[in-house]
Amino acid sequence: MSGWVAVAGLGPGDEALVTPEVSAALAQATDVVGYIPYVARVAPRAGLTLHPSDNRVELDRAGHALDLAADGRRVVVVSSGDPGVFAMASALFEALEAGPARWQDLDIRILPGITAMLAAAARAGSPLGHDFCAINLSNNLKPWPVIEKRLRLAAEADFAMAFYNPRSKARPEGFARVLEILRETCGDARPILFARAVTTAEEDLRIVPLGEARADMADMRTMVIVGSSQTRIIARARGPILYTPRSLPGDAP
Ligand code: SAH
Repeated sequence: MSGWVAVAGLGPGDEALVTPEVSAALAQATDVVGYIPYVARVAPRAGLTLHPSDNRVELDRAGHALDLAADGRRVVVVSSGDPGVFAMASALFEALEAGPARWQDLDIRILPGITAMLAAAARAGSPLGHDFCAINLSNNLKPWPVIEKRLRLAAEADFAMAFYNPRSKARPEGFARVLEILRETCGDARPILFARAVTTAEEDLRIVPLGEARADMADMRTMVIVGSSQTRIIARARGPILYTPRSLPGDAP
């Protein structure tokens, strides 16, 4: 039996948002590799070995998966959301590029999933309906000045912005600084969405004007989305809808 590696996205939490393609790969797998809480989402069964590992060991984990596949195992590496968004797919290719000859011709597939940004946007309405960008606010893998530069330029370009990893443990004060920069560039009235644990039992959504946003409204399970200058709220008794229109007026910033 020849081995393979599938790097699969488990979606934001709800089982209904795991794609049939990912479920089929898990059903065929002999091994599942990934960060502890993601591996915990895979149902154990006879013939399946689970290999949970700690965070921040992405390259080791990728090498382990490639080694197992080179030994003929059918390996699924699990990420939350989509595996290509701040997750294991790139880590696997980094390991492959620097790795031994026995890894080079392995069958490797990336199986997409619903990323947190899209799940959060869908819950709130449609804040990413026009041009937008996604920024990882963690400075574990890049220098802080780069984050500030990208943030300022994205705000200046009037993108709606989706922020992953808003509060990094290594730099708890970073997100307060992000909010300051956003207020300077976007003003106090701009809506900001805090979408926590979307599609799980702990889901919590808050939309506030930037002037009322506080750093402690976000944690590592929160997706933060800031609107563009065109993003608006439809107030309804059922709860607000946050959306960005499809078209941009000619005199927009
Ligand atoms: N590959 C993942 C992202 C990994 S980075 C994806 O595509 O979704 C981890 C960050 O994703 C978290 O810090 C948080 O900002 C966000 N996130 C992941 N799941 C989430 C969820 N269910 N609700 C809100 N944010 C989530």
